[in-house]
Amino acid sequence: MDIAHRLQVSSHPGGLLYECTDGCGRRLVVDRTTGALTVIDKGDQWAMHSGSIGDVRLSVTGIKSG
Ligand SMILES: [Zn+2]
Repeated sequence: MDIAHRLQVSSHPGGLLYECTDGCGRRLVVDRTTGALTVIDKGDQWAMHSGSIGDVRLSVTGIKSG
């Protein structure tokens, strides 16, 4: 069963910072120029994290097994 978590987005000079609002601690940064995604804190890897800001949308699905 999938768990849905919301990502709150804030803008920083180095890129867009996505932080989980459901308390698992997931944080990642998307570079404005390259679009490269860097995970800072993995948080709950089983949860499906989604969030958006402006014209940037992001959906990250957790790793599944079995
Ligand atoms: Zn989360």
